[in-house]
Amino acid sequence: MPILKRSPRTREGRLPVASLASEESLGESSGWRSAVSPGRPSRLFATCAHPGCNSGWLQLWRSRSTPMFEGGWSCSAECTRARVEAALHREVSGRGTGRIAAHRHRIPIGLILLEQGWITQSQLRRALEAQKAAGKGRLGEWLVRQHAVSEPVVTRALALQWSCPVLPLEQHAPEWLATAMPRLFVEAFGALPLRVAAGRLLYLGFEQGLDPALAFGVEQMTGLRVESGIVQQAHFREAHVRMLESGFPPAELIEAVSEAALAQAFSRALEKNKPAESRLVRVHGCLWLRMWLRPQIGPLPEVNGVRDLIGSIGSF
Ligand SMILES: [Zn+2]
Repeated sequence: MPILKRSPRTREGRLPVASLASEESLGESSGWRSAVSPGRPSRLFATCAHPGCNSGWLQLWRSRSTPMFEGGWSCSAECTRARVEAALHREVSGRGTGRIAAHRHRIPIGLILLEQGWITQSQLRRALEAQKAAGKGRLGEWLVRQHAVSEPVVTRALALQWSCPVLPLEQHAPEWLATAMPRLFVEAFGALPLRVAAGRLLYLGFEQGLDPALAFGVEQMTGLRVESGIVQQAHFREAHVRMLESGFPPAELIEAVSEAALAQAFSRALEKNKPAESRLVRVHGCLWLRMWLRPQIGPLPEVNGVRDLIGSIGSF
């Protein structure tokens, strides 16, 4: 009868509060609560966050304070599973973080360079012909190769094309930034976390063009505002290689046959790791579950403070 064993406080006329310990241990000064769960009211009584929970008052006697998922505690493995299923469906159906405006038309880089007077008609024609004959390479690269423009000029043109800033690479500390997102995203989506400013703004660099879906997903996950921009190609490539060699949080890839199978794998991981907080976001076809094994101190988690699961579903 573990239920009865857990009720010493009731003799003092107080109800046992299952998740009070984890709430207290978060600490108001850590910044974690505001970053991960903005606006979550402090609770005196732990109530299961699964809307369909039918444990009633029994849930208060359950001897567990974790796992926490998206700011709420669930009283049982079944309730965790139901909440993960709902969150997964939200992301897969595009009602959640994966809902990003469709690509809008962008002015070709050659036209921008021409309009700005940075290249001539004949330089553009020569580069286009070389690109066509070779069947590969970006126009900007051909223009640089043919000495029509310098690389910084192509970078400026790309920034105009994407209406974004050119971001510098000063004081880049890849080890510290490697917890902003899984290594897979840095590699597959060609993103480069650059720095965190004022503890709440994350600069994200790209080489050729922005990735709004990735930026939005990282924003939702980290609680930091993400500012994306273009980094000059040579600088980007060097820093990107260095970044990929950094120590990233442990990550597991899960290929699931269905949404239900992935929900099961995610909820099992939550029950096993008992995170102090966890969250699910979608980045393109990847469903990214991050588990905070302990409360986060500072704008980014420690490398061993979080664990990532990246799921994909069949042909989704
Ligand atoms: Zn419940």
